[in-house]
Amino acid sequence: MSFRLSTRSRARLQGVHPALVGVIEAAILTTPVDFMVTEGLRTPQRQASLVRAGASRTLNSRHLTGHAVDIAALVDGAIRWDWPLYPRIAEAIKAAAKARGVALIWGGDWPRLRDGPHFELDRKVYP
Ligand SMILES: [Zn+2]
Repeated sequence: MSFRLSTRSRARLQGVHPALVGVIEAAILTTPVDFMVTEGLRTPQRQASLVRAGASRTLNSRHLTGHAVDIAALVDGAIRWDWPLYPRIAEAIKAAAKARGVALIWGGDWPRLRDGPHFELDRKVYP
């Protein structure tokens, strides 16, 4: 079975780099685990709030420029944060990126402060 992006997820992709939007749109068709987009483009005010809250460590986030998205796994339509769901979604998103020649980085691959919901375009290719 294949999933589809909700209207809310699509709205949250507004202002996100088209290469990344294309990857997410392709990945929802092949992912074995449903997901929603929780955040794309972020204002500097929101980023500052996240840093103050301890959710982010940088004021130089890729979300500020529309080069990153956060997703959340859905099981029967409900958000789940169980870690094992995220590598499965990441596999579909990475495959979609590879097929489209898009250089993508998954926060779950970071050695420090692993960030399973986060995907961003590689700064080396998309500065
Ligand atoms: Zn993020």
